[in-house]
Amino acid sequence: MIIAIDIGGTKIAAALLDGNEIVSRREIDSVIHQDLASLPTAVIALVKDWQNQANAIAIACTGQVTPDEVKFLSLGPDAVLPLKALIGDALLLPVTIINDAAAAAWAEYALGSHTSGDTLVYITVSTGIGGGIIQQGQLVSCNDGFSAHLGHISVQQPQQYTQHCACGRNNCVEAIASGTAIAKQATRILGHQVSCKEVFGQYCHRADIIALLDRCADAVVDLIASVKAITGTDCIVLGGSVGLNSTFLTLVKRKVLNLPAVYRLNVASPTMEKNADLIGAALYHAHTQTNPQ
Ligand SMILES: [Zn+2]
Repeated sequence: MIIAIDIGGTKIAAALLDGNEIVSRREIDSVIHQDLASLPTAVIALVKDWQNQANAIAIACTGQVTPDEVKFLSLGPDAVLPLKALIGDALLLPVTIINDAAAAAWAEYALGSHTSGDTLVYITVSTGIGGGIIQQGQLVSCNDGFSAHLGHISVQQPQQYTQHCACGRNNCVEAIASGTAIAKQATRILGHQVSCKEVFGQYCHRADIIALLDRCADAVVDLIASVKAITGTDCIVLGGSVGLNSTFLTLVKRKVLNLPAVYRLNVASPTMEKNADLIGAALYHAHTQTNPQ
């Protein structure tokens, strides 16, 4: 069996898997934003009693995942942990670690029914914007872990709406259309603090909020067109709390139909539910055992 662990900014989930089947699952609040240094201890405590039942650990983690360490981009340049070694050494098991959106992409590719081809791109529009790319049956990755970070592709914006991104560039799609960015811009429009959930739940009838969401959907569609030009994929799986919102998804799908013909592709919703990252990480580990890179 495999221990799969999904490390996100809000929660840390873990599961004991037999193939694709979850035998046991548990979840705790994440410590990343409160006390990053305590993350390895929290993860080890969460799964330690499964140690003797498993022969490997598969981790899906937010951030810039390299072969040796994870850089937590949003927490600054010093937020780096050698998670693979810390967890592997403590539990005496081999560890595979990939980005969480990459894990979700692999789950959709391996188990979803979106495409008959060998290329698929998953985009999550949630608190941030992330992605995973499978190109010709291979998960796209690189040594410094900064591949398929689709939230940092810059998109067209009218001059008066320039948005600065935490990565140092302007008009990254994450700085415009992520849940965090939507809440920030809506707060400015409304003159009081609102969350992204409140924007969609309470303010969608207002013309100025409709215009904001329309601009955000334009940004995501611009990203989709760029991804099409880079990968040639015929299918984008759009997930995340914003990406799955029916108001937002309807806007995106309508705008994709208005793209020039070569950019039009199928925008699908994820097949997998909340365990996509866990199952994707475990399946990817199994894949690397039979197809060593
Ligand atoms: Zn950026």
